[in-house]
Amino acid sequence: MTYDYRCSCGNTFEDYKRIEDRHYSKCPKCGKKARMIFSPCRAVHIFQPYWDEHIGPKGPVLLESRKQKQRMLREQGLEQL
Ligand SMILES: [Zn+2]
Repeated sequence: MTYDYRCSCGNTFEDYKRIEDRHYSKCPKCGKKARMIFSPCRAVHIFQPYWDEHIGPKGPVLLESRKQKQRMLREQGLEQL
C-alpha cells in the first residue's frame, strides 16, 4: 500500500509501506520521522513527483510515477520495506 506522510519540516510525500509499518516514514527531504496522513476520502490519488534520496543506488532519483517507484524498489530489493 502507498500512504501519505507529513513531516514537521512541512514536507508532504507518499511512501510504499507494509500495513504494519504504515504509521511512520522517513522524510525524503530532512530524514526525520514523518507521520502518516489519513485521507480516506480521496478517491483518486495523484502521484506528486519528488526526489527520493533513499531509493537510488547512486544518490537521489526523481520519481515521477508510482509505477516507477515500485519498479525502483523492486530493483533495489526494497519491496518489502
Ligand atoms: Zn522533513
